Amino acid sequence: MLIIKTNILNPISSDKVEFLPDTFISISNKKIASISKTIENQDFTDYSDSVCIPGLIDTHVHLSQYYVRGKHNSNLFDWLDNCTFPEELKSKDPEYARKVAQDFFTALKKAGTTTSVIYTSPFKEACNIAFETAEEMGVRAIIGKTMMDTNSPEYLLEDTETSFLESVELFEKWNKKTELLEYVFSPRFAPVCSSQLMKMIGEFAQKKKAYIQTHLSENQDEIKLVKKLFPKYKNYTEIYEKLGILGPKTLLGHGIHLDNEELEIIKKTKSKIIHCPDSNFFLKSGVFPFEKIKKSGIDFSLASDVAGGTSLSMFNVMKMACYRQDDYTVSPEEAFYYATLGGAKVLEKEDIIGSIDVGKEADLAFVKIPDINNKEKKELLSKLVFLGNELKIKATYVAGKNVYEKS
Ligand SMILES: [Zn+2]
Repeated sequence: MLIIKTNILNPISSDKVEFLPDTFISISNKKIASISKTIENQDFTDYSDSVCIPGLIDTHVHLSQYYVRGKHNSNLFDWLDNCTFPEELKSKDPEYARKVAQDFFTALKKAGTTTSVIYTSPFKEACNIAFETAEEMGVRAIIGKTMMDTNSPEYLLEDTETSFLESVELFEKWNKKTELLEYVFSPRFAPVCSSQLMKMIGEFAQKKKAYIQTHLSENQDEIKLVKKLFPKYKNYTEIYEKLGILGPKTLLGHGIHLDNEELEIIKKTKSKIIHCPDSNFFLKSGVFPFEKIKKSGIDFSLASDVAGGTSLSMFNVMKMACYRQDDYTVSPEEAFYYATLGGAKVLEKEDIIGSIDVGKEADLAFVKIPDINNKEKKELLSKLVFLGNELKIKATYVAGKNVYEKS
């Protein structure tokens, strides 16, 4: 039994956060066994100079692009052609793929992120290496090999059958291999995937209740291209619906420029939207309709979208979620919720992770806050959201195991 003394900041809902100062958390068999004001046992780990939050959840991130974050290009397609695609090719070399994966997961743990949903490059071995590294490092990860079988640079282009079969092979090998690892089928987006490939993915994933992730309606040029490539469909979302890609375990990255009909399809199929505000700023993709999506009842969450996003830090993402809105004020409570419990809900894992409650797995991040004893809940939460980049993570735990400790 591990006992930790700390100050808990816990998301309850998108407008409510609970603060429990000077509290003891006991952890047994990976889970939170108790949360209490006193303990009999005097032997505990003292993190009372820190605030304890649920491990952060990044629901959309590209591992193979980790090294090109911050490399500027003013729009999505130029950025894909000039930065992303050439960089993803480098992961064809297993040694390079291993180095990226190691640096990527090390940085995630250091940023307090305990769960991430990951695209790797379109190379099977690079995806295998990402899983191996995640397992070695003890993080919770849902990982998939990016699929692209049309309209792609020659050096990334896959044959339809091979793309599908390699993904199935990776799924069989890694999905739920450990309690922390799962597979996600990852057709990059409609412009680079054939109808046939998406249909095959949809059928297989629905049958196996597997996750699917893709991009949707990020950029106006992308939408125009999709209209040209798929003329028989009413809108972008309908393509995914008709090809069987949508469902409760489908994660749709961006969803900025959706019309009401498209929102209806997403709601009806219980698909999820992943909002990546830093990336939207960086690539000038547009403003995510935060208030409209929230009111629609569609589940959504926050994500870094590195390397469209510049930083793996979910603190940076929370801040950007607030900054990116012009006419709607995202509160610190909302930003915090969608990077924790909201992320867990999108993954249908809200009974397991996302908040600090007895019975949930102990995925925790301890953030050191200067002069913590003189701060109230509101100030602490606000500092986390707006000054997170300056704050240091003291320790990170995944399923009760210490995976990072600041030296
Ligand atoms: Zn992305």
